[in-house]
Amino acid sequence: MVDKVVKPFSVADRYAVVGNPIAHSKSPLIHEAFAKQTGQEISYERILAPVDGFEATVRELIMQGYKGINVTVPFKLEAFQLANTLSARAQDAGAVNTLIFNDAGITGDNTDGAGIVRDIEQNLNIAIAGKRILLIGAGGAAEGVIAPILAHQPQALVVANRTIEKAQRMVSKHLINHRQISASTFEGLQNQTFDIVINATSTGLSDTALPIPSSIFAKGCLAYDMMYGRETPFMQQARASGAQVADGLGMLVEQAAEAFYIWRGVRPETRSVMQQIRDLS
Ligand code: NDP
Repeated sequence: MVDKVVKPFSVADRYAVVGNPIAHSKSPLIHEAFAKQTGQEISYERILAPVDGFEATVRELIMQGYKGINVTVPFKLEAFQLANTLSARAQDAGAVNTLIFNDAGITGDNTDGAGIVRDIEQNLNIAIAGKRILLIGAGGAAEGVIAPILAHQPQALVVANRTIEKAQRMVSKHLINHRQISASTFEGLQNQTFDIVINATSTGLSDTALPIPSSIFAKGCLAYDMMYGRETPFMQQARASGAQVADGLGMLVEQAAEAFYIWRGVRPETRSVMQQIRDLS
């Protein structure tokens, strides 16, 4: 009689980014680079969920044994609602971009804010503490970065938005603990200057210029556009005003590194991965 030997085999832990649309996402390239660099055996895919089918997609992925997902437009709010447990930064942001699936159920986190702060402070080597910061936009991306920026103690954080009520609502959530935050209309920015100006609007997607005065860029100002992969009208205006300009690729890679760390317990090196992604663009 021949003994049947069952060979142990290893199956890579599965992760994915879920959104709609999703074909453009660079997340698989980034996570594959992290995995290679750190020797982690994982697979990472792009998954297109129907706009009305995010929860069903997540439940299916859990059934199939996925360990976690990144969540992108338009599902960050739904991911927030779906999670059984939320990190403090997900609660602050009111949105989730990283889900962890384990015995505890579905845990939601938000790494966008940590991503931009790390890119500004570590990669661009610019301290946030003591700076006058202008955040333009009051959508999901802006909301996610407010608390992490405030935690680094800027002198002032002004949130300007086309729809001023949205900026005021966001600001009011933080005013109790942070007197340095305020909301402004675009017109209200006249005669003000800032050391760091962050464009968190989606105007870059449509090549629309923002109605902001060029005088807002202080000498040596960092102008940061969360958009990446193209020179936006905001970047052009900032550059013409003498500002140092950065796009959101660093934020994208840093938020991914934070998610990778949450899932795998290993922090990947990001600079080489940023360069790799830029070279491919
Ligand atoms: P939302 O749709 O939630 O918010 C859009 C924002 O843009 C709102 O504040 C809106 O103002 C403003 N806006 C849109 N059109 C105009 C206009 N013509 N003039 C003035 N303001 C306008 O988008 P998100 O917050 O999710 O994303 C914003 C940007 O950030 C996107 O470009 C996205 O790609 C980028 N992003 C980058 C990340 C990265 O890792 N680099 C991560 C997440 C986002 P109003 O309230 O008045 O409508």
